[in-house]
Amino acid sequence: MLHDVLDFFGMENVIAFEVQSFPVWTQLLIMLIIADFIQWNVHRWLHKSNFLWKFHQVHHSVKEMGFGAQFRFHFVETIVYKSLQYIPLAMIGFGIKDFFVVHMFAVLVGHLNHANLRWDYGPLRYIFNNPKMHIWHHSRELPENRRNGVNFGLTLSLWDYIFRTAYVPDFTDDVETGFENDEEFPENFWQQVKLPFRAGRNS
Ligand SMILES: [Zn+2]
Ligand SMILES: [Zn+2]
Repeated sequence: MLHDVLDFFGMENVIAFEVQSFPVWTQLLIMLIIADFIQWNVHRWLHKSNFLWKFHQVHHSVKEMGFGAQFRFHFVETIVYKSLQYIPLAMIGFGIKDFFVVHMFAVLVGHLNHANLRWDYGPLRYIFNNPKMHIWHHSRELPENRRNGVNFGLTLSLWDYIFRTAYVPDFTDDVETGFENDEEFPENFWQQVKLPFRAGRNS
């Protein structure tokens, strides 16, 4: 299916280097880094665009962190993330099986990020996203000059440190999650799904 799409755009020869000749762990590591950098950019975009923010708001409407919070998101979000991630990865020669392994690792880290824990993995916090960091991504109050958001990392925290979007104050107690006017956000699942599609929505 994907090859048909690539063929359609005349892209069958865009494989830039032969990743299959690298050892498996190197391949998975390269894939994780590329996939996560794409995710980090998509996540920033979900916050920046008024239109996409309506979809991403479902994830941010969580008022209490817990393992399940990771799976609270609008289905359109997955379509945006996965197509933007998978197409470039397939173009440089990665297969769906590698993508699955990296995806499962990302799910595990994502679960922990949303767990109500105070972990930060010590010095590894500068590489991996962690519960102590991600809670601030969900904070209702953001610092004055960071209105578009902080800590956009999903699996890796690295990008937020490199591009200076990291924000991790010392204390993590009583962080109120949500967004401005979230008390008006519908609690019903179908209303949340339909909300971004409704005409004349307030932005
Ligand atoms: Zn977000
Ligand atoms: Zn989150």
